[in-house]
Amino acid sequence: MTAEKNYDETPLAREVAELTRRRIALADAVLPRPTHTRVFTVANQKGGVGKTTSTVNLAAALAQSGARVLVIDLDPQGNASTALGVEHRSDTASVYDVMIDDVPMRDVVQSSPEFTGLDCVPATIHLAGAEIELVSLVAREQRLRTALQNFLRDAPEPYHYVFIDCPPSLGLLTLNAFVAAREVLIPIQCEYYALEGLSQLLNNIELIQKHLNQKLRLSTILLTMYDSRTNLANQVVDEVREHFPDQTLTTVIPRSVRISEAPSYGQSVISYDTNSPGSLSYREAAAEIAFRGAGGATLNGGVATTAPTDVPSVDAGEMN
Ligand code: ATP
Ligand code: MG
Repeated sequence: MTAEKNYDETPLAREVAELTRRRIALADAVLPRPTHTRVFTVANQKGGVGKTTSTVNLAAALAQSGARVLVIDLDPQGNASTALGVEHRSDTASVYDVMIDDVPMRDVVQSSPEFTGLDCVPATIHLAGAEIELVSLVAREQRLRTALQNFLRDAPEPYHYVFIDCPPSLGLLTLNAFVAAREVLIPIQCEYYALEGLSQLLNNIELIQKHLNQKLRLSTILLTMYDSRTNLANQVVDEVREHFPDQTLTTVIPRSVRISEAPSYGQSVISYDTNSPGSLSYREAAAEIAFRGAGGATLNGGVATTAPTDVPSVDAGEMN
């Protein structure tokens, strides 16, 4: 008798089954919503580690789940604005006008066509000069915080999350982002030099805690561009988890062509190909962030322990 091949046991079938399981878990999940607006600064002075990709896709995933989310593009490259499909030609009113000319944030914010409830404060190329222009301004490291607090206080509908996408430097723009936020999210690329420069970033965060924003904390580390075929990627994952056991999300973002091609369509991968492995990972990471904020439950645990609160209190004084 010839043994019949069981196709359910092939690696491909297992992979498909696993993707289906993840998709169903996400579809069934009810993400808890924070009672306060959670403001994240997404920072790493190293270039190309996935700051913008993580900002855009986490924001899109949370908006897809029904949360109201604001992305502030604080990088003159304007990559987050591009990926969210919002206008950012040089004559567009942008975060530059907010920080340098005191234009209210509500006058420059745009709705992203991605999802209802997802808004973006765009960046234009003018922001490139802001690092220097800021130097001579009063309260130069508080400008974004003041503008954001005023905006959140007066917003007709409160936001659940704000993500600030930083440029790859530790200059005045990034400093403004650290002062405006309560939480820092550091994306770390799973590659050889991953941890280099991290101590400088952590020192800066500590200095800011001491002098400018006591409430700032490193809440989240997200491992990005993971390639399971390399031993090196696994070593980086282990090392980061060892150093930051509490902050590192369980979800790791894989290297994925879908993730990298989505921005060229002016989309996040969440809307571009919502059930692709890369999108599922960002949706899982977003769920983890939401559950961690609510204190403990997990996506695989099934249901939220905290019922979603539709209206986060936006007490600007409380924010920082
Ligand atoms: P910068 O420091 O220039 O602002 P960044 O830290 O914001 O860069 P991204 O722009 O998000 O990094 O990513 C750098 C490049 O890597 C982009 O081309 C992006 O499309 C690609 N990329 C990011 N994440 C992934 C991924 N998981 N899989 C494949 N490509 C990715
Ligand atoms: Mg970027």
